[in-house]
Amino acid sequence: MTDQYTFQDPTKQFPKAGPEFQQKQEEPGLQKEMTPLPDSGETSYRGTGRLTGRKAVVTGADSGIGRAAAIAYAREGADVVLAYLPEEEADAQEVVKLIEAEGRKAVAVPGDVRDERYCVNLIETAVKELGGIDILANIAGKQQFVEQIEDLTTEHFDATFKTNVYAMFWLCKAAIKHMQPGSTIINTASIEAYEPEPILLDYATTKASINTFSKALAQQVAEKGIRVNVVAPGPVWTPLQVVGGQPTEVLKEFGEETPLKRPGQPVEMAPAFVFLASPESSYVVGETLNANGGMPTP
Ligand code: NAD
Ligand code: MG
Repeated sequence: MTDQYTFQDPTKQFPKAGPEFQQKQEEPGLQKEMTPLPDSGETSYRGTGRLTGRKAVVTGADSGIGRAAAIAYAREGADVVLAYLPEEEADAQEVVKLIEAEGRKAVAVPGDVRDERYCVNLIETAVKELGGIDILANIAGKQQFVEQIEDLTTEHFDATFKTNVYAMFWLCKAAIKHMQPGSTIINTASIEAYEPEPILLDYATTKASINTFSKALAQQVAEKGIRVNVVAPGPVWTPLQVVGGQPTEVLKEFGEETPLKRPGQPVEMAPAFVFLASPESSYVVGETLNANGGMPTP
């Protein structure tokens, strides 16, 4: 059994893609129905007390990268409020069990982040149930490929922006009111912010917005002692990719474009979310940490 501290070859640490990666589910999809099963650190992430006593809200906490962050935060000693869509209850309940197994509190709050009232309620629930909020990890996201701009509807464009950009704005706004100095916000961009795929016109644009929003907000709230940073993943094996994030045919080569020549696993994103949440990163403000298998970024 290895964990994030085991010395090993990153090119061989997790499998390359292949024909078995070609699969399709309806949005938002369930991680538990994917094969191979993504690794969100369920059996491998080892905590060392880096977030002892912290109070975290994680969106998209049921699956993929959000699940990995939620598990890691709990193993590092934080209590966690989990946000996800009602259809994802089965995945979310697994995460609740894993968090409770660490002796930490898990509060499940299903709902739709495209609704401002839900976002405000999510933060208020954290304040009430955990006694405050000092970590906000905005990880929920929508990615649906569309080949041609003619076929990209206003409804689709709007839904992508509501999920990826507006929800982040509403959640940051609601959380900052309650945050004490030392608190941290981590938003989730993507390699798509720098190398936009033509079929991800709307999604890539939201991811660039998330970077810019975070750099502006970071400067605004730094004097309150609140740090805002970003994680920008590369290709990571999660439900997002099999629910229409990419055409099914290309999944057999998923991640091959990276210098490591394989997809990332959600658990490989977790240490970035932990580092940026913890006081270890005290002088890191408005930064984007790229975890993308080696693709150069500006
Ligand atoms: P995922 O499908 O596991 O997570 C996305 C989550 O977003 C879902 O689980 C769902 O709970 C949440 N979500 C979507 N729409 C929602 C809504 N309307 N209301 C509430 N929740 C909603 O996939 P993931 O890849 O782990 O995605 C997490 C983040 O990582 C996203 O922001 C995504 O853009 C980003 N990202 C992923 C990759 C990748 O290759 N997987 C690469 C770069 C960035
Ligand atoms: Mg999910």
